[in-house]
Amino acid sequence: MLNTLLYSHLYRWYESNRRILPWRETEDPYRIWLSEVILQQTRVAQGLDYYLRFVSRWPTVEDLASADEAEVLREWQGLGYYSRARNLHKAARMIVESKGGLKAGQTVFPTSFEAIRALPGIGDYTAGAIASFAYDMPYPAVDGNVYRVVARLLDIDEPFDTTAGKKLFRKHIEQLLDREHPRLFNSAIMEFGALQCTPVLGDNCLSCPLQAQCLAYAHGTAELLPVRKPRPKVRDRWFTYHIYLTTMDNGQWTMDNVCTLIRRREEKDIWYHLYEFPCEESNSSLTGEAGPTAKRSNSKAILQAQPVYAFTHILSHQRIHARAIIHKVQKMPDIPGTISIRWEELNDYALSRLTLRVVDTVRSTLPR
Ligand code: SF4
Repeated sequence: MLNTLLYSHLYRWYESNRRILPWRETEDPYRIWLSEVILQQTRVAQGLDYYLRFVSRWPTVEDLASADEAEVLREWQGLGYYSRARNLHKAARMIVESKGGLKAGQTVFPTSFEAIRALPGIGDYTAGAIASFAYDMPYPAVDGNVYRVVARLLDIDEPFDTTAGKKLFRKHIEQLLDREHPRLFNSAIMEFGALQCTPVLGDNCLSCPLQAQCLAYAHGTAELLPVRKPRPKVRDRWFTYHIYLTTMDNGQWTMDNVCTLIRRREEKDIWYHLYEFPCEESNSSLTGEAGPTAKRSNSKAILQAQPVYAFTHILSHQRIHARAIIHKVQKMPDIPGTISIRWEELNDYALSRLTLRVVDTVRSTLPR
């Protein structure tokens, strides 16, 4: 009875307030999956552009599977958390390869929660979102918005991001889920969290249709919820990028006439398989100028080395203290794993946001 009342208020609110978003207007599991992966850690306004570009370039899971990983990473550039793109591509290939005896044109996307959940990069949330939005199956899709709404409705002060907290919330959300209309319920409660029961509430509670059912409102605890576990300590790292530049046929030091060195990152970290300038990591403050990754015999060829830029780049658990040094050289040094490309070809390679900041800075020091 309590839930029935809650559903009717929630759905009425949803009908009047919901945003028209392309991934909520389709039941295509591939497109829903794509949108959910893009929207993790990304604002809707920014994610929308990426979503439209992806579905335009790769309209089906087969199209995505046939793309090169480098192309997918290049299209993902700027979104960060590149493991999402790598997993997306890997999962697309797995889906297509498992097609087995299906005829061309038949749906190849998995149709059970367990099979969806087994794909790389797909956790409980994404599997629940695909199962409910695409197939209207009774699985919850619990993102940050939903945790917030449920924590407040039920006045739960247990951290939602611990193992015990997740279990507790899962139990409550399973009880709250509208099993007759899971697609509608999940869409509505997520949108409600995004637009009405927001992190900073302002006057939202006063106009809230769920106010009478909300325990946190009754107890005056809404602004304190949800509770998170203490954040891990942020790790400081110090990077020095060496930007080797040489001119083509000893011409002008202009952007369209210089070459540079880049390497594909093979370290299995968040920048795996992205391209970057030769980079040194040190333990503390930034020192050194010549770039010891280059062989000593090349040092005579350096015409000019100057620090050009230092900045701090913040990631969720890391603080990168970066600087870039430009080395204008007659001949490129011999650094294992690097390739020499024209500066203007940088656009053809997948670069992290951090590397893009370096590119922008160096670009501003060179005439066009
Ligand atoms: S009353 Fe306030 S805290 Fe409670 S559900 Fe509504 S907006 Fe959220």
